[in-house]
Amino acid sequence: MTQEIENTPAIAPFNTLGLHPSVLAAITAVGYEEPSPIQTQSIPLIMAGHDMIGQAQTGTGKTAAFALPILSRIDANRREAQVLVLAPTRELALQVATAFESFAAQMPTVNVVAIYGGAPMGPQLKAIRNGAQVIVATPGRLVDHLSRNGGLLSTIKFLVLDEADEMLKLGFMDDLEVIFNAMPDERQTVLFSATLPSSIRGIAEKHLRNPQQVKIASKTQTVARIDQAHLMVHADQKINAVLRLLEVEDFDAMIGFVRTKQATLDIAAALEAKGYKVAALNGDIAQNQRERVIDSLKDGRLNIVIATDVAARGLDVPRITHVFNIDMPYDPESYVHRIGRTGRAGREGRALLLVTPRERRMLQVVERVTGQKIAEIQLPDAKVILQARIRRLTQDLAPRVKDKENKNVELLAHLTTELNCSAEDLALALLAKTTEGQAFTLDGVEREQPVLAPRGRDNRDRDDRGGRGRDDRGGRGEGGRGDRGGEGGRERRAPLALSEGKVRCRTALGVRDGVAARNLLGAILNEGGLSRDAIGRIQIRESFSLVELPEEGLESLLSKLKDTRVAGKALKLRRYRED
Ligand code: ADP
Ligand code: MG
Repeated sequence: MTQEIENTPAIAPFNTLGLHPSVLAAITAVGYEEPSPIQTQSIPLIMAGHDMIGQAQTGTGKTAAFALPILSRIDANRREAQVLVLAPTRELALQVATAFESFAAQMPTVNVVAIYGGAPMGPQLKAIRNGAQVIVATPGRLVDHLSRNGGLLSTIKFLVLDEADEMLKLGFMDDLEVIFNAMPDERQTVLFSATLPSSIRGIAEKHLRNPQQVKIASKTQTVARIDQAHLMVHADQKINAVLRLLEVEDFDAMIGFVRTKQATLDIAAALEAKGYKVAALNGDIAQNQRERVIDSLKDGRLNIVIATDVAARGLDVPRITHVFNIDMPYDPESYVHRIGRTGRAGREGRALLLVTPRERRMLQVVERVTGQKIAEIQLPDAKVILQARIRRLTQDLAPRVKDKENKNVELLAHLTTELNCSAEDLALALLAKTTEGQAFTLDGVEREQPVLAPRGRDNRDRDDRGGRGRDDRGGRGEGGRGDRGGEGGRERRAPLALSEGKVRCRTALGVRDGVAARNLLGAILNEGGLSRDAIGRIQIRESFSLVELPEEGLESLLSKLKDTRVAGKALKLRRYRED
C-alpha cells in the first residue's frame, strides 16, 4: 500500500536538542514523544545561555520548554538554590514544581520546593536551607520570605517568569521588583507568557539581557467539509466522556489523538474493555506492527486507533469518518492537520474535541485561525445513550429479521421443544444473552455511569490539562495488560480502576509536606522490601497521597512500614477504602 507523504515541518527529536541524558531519560518515562513547537525553539536558546521571551498559548508545553534545558544546565551536585521559577498562583506553582520533579526523576540529588501562601513558612524555608536546587514560588509568599531572609536568593543562576501576563494581572508588579532586586545580576532570565502587553515588554527591557524572542503564532488555515464539535470536560473525566460520546456517534472508523504514549495505552485499554476493536499507536511501536495496525484499520478488523501525533504521521485511511481530539493539539496547524484525516475522498467527516477549562483560550485561537465556530455539545445523558443502544441493536437485527432463508428454523423448533418454552420466551433469553454487560433500561444505564467514571472522588484536584505522568509516576501495569481481546471483553470493568491484586493505601503526607512520588517510592522499596513492579500508581495530592500496593501480604507490609518516615514525617500508611 502506498502511503501519503506529508509535508510537515521537520521537528527535531528531543535527543538532538543538547539536553542532559538524565533529562532525556525522564522525558521518555513521562511519555513525551517529540517536543512541541515552543519547546523546539526555546530549548536550544536556553541551552546556549540566552535570556529569552517565549510567547505561546496556554497548553502549548511552556513548562517543559524551560524546565528541561534548565535542569540540564544546573549543577546537580551543588546543594543550593540555583533556579527560581515565579508562577502566578499556588495551583500553577504546584503544577510547575511537580513537572520539575518528574523531569528530575533521574537526578537523585536534585530537589524541588514549592513556596506559596496558605501553608506554614517554616518547612518551606527549611527545604530551601536544605539545599533544594529548584524553587517554584508565587511572588507574594516569596517576598514574605525575603523580608525575613534577604539573602535567600543569592545563589540563583536561572530565573523564570512563568505566565508573566497572569502575574501582572494579579498585581504582582511591585513584588517582582523586590524579587529582582534580591537576585544576583549574573543570571539567565527567561520569561514565558501567552500575551505580551507593554507592561511585560517593560519588565523585559529592564531585567533581561539581550533577550531572544520566540513566538508561536498561527497562520490562517482552511478546513472544509468537516463537521466540528467540542465538549468541555475536566481531565479526570476524559475517559468517561470518550466512552459516552462513542455510544452516540455513528462512526465507521475513528482516530483518537492524545499527547503521550501512556495515554494511547490507557484509552485503548478502556475502550477495549468495553468491547471496541481498538489499538494504540505510539512511537514505541515497531514499524511492521504499525503497518499491521493501519492495515487492520483499513479493512475493518479495527475501528479505532488511539495515536500520538508522531505515530499518526502519514496515516491515511479513507474509512475514517471521525477524528477525536481527546487531548488538545499544541497549535491550530496541528488541529487542522489532525482533522484532515477525515473527510477524505469527498466524504463528510466529523471532528470532536475535548477541551479542559484551562484550554478555552486555545479553543478560541483554533476558531479564529480556521475562521469557523466549533459547536459546543453536551455529554450525552443516560436517556440518549439508551436510545442509541436500542437503535444500534435494531439496526443489527433488522436484516436478520427480514432474512427469509434463516438457517435456524430447525434449531428454533428444537430449542422451544427442548426447553418447553414459547418463541417469545426464547427470544427474551437470546436478548438477555446478546445484551449481557450492557444495560438496556434507563435505570440500568444510569447505574452504569459511575462505573464509567474513571477513578473516584480522590481525583478532584488533579491537573485538569490532560497531561499525565506528573504526580502519578509509578507502576503503569494497568494500561498494558497482556490479556487483550477475546470475547470476555465486554464484561471487563473500566481498567482505570485499580490494577488487579492491588489495593490503594493512603498517607496524610502530600505536596504541602514536601513529599514527591520518588520519596514515597524510595521509602516503600527500601523499607518494605518490595520489587519495583509490585508498586502501582502513586498519586501525590496537596494534603495526602495514594499508593497502589499488592493486596497479598498487605498487613505485614504495613507493619514493616509502621515506623517509616518520609520527608521527616511519619508515613502512617493505611488501607484506603474506595468509598
Ligand atoms: P502551558 O504552560 O503552555 O500552558 P504546560 O507546560 O502546562 O502548557 O503543558 C500542557 C500539557 O501538555 C501538560 O499536560 C504537559 O504534560 C503536556 N505536554 C507538554 N509538552 C509535551 C510533549 N512534548 N509531549 C506530550 N505532552 C506534552
Ligand atoms: Mg504554563
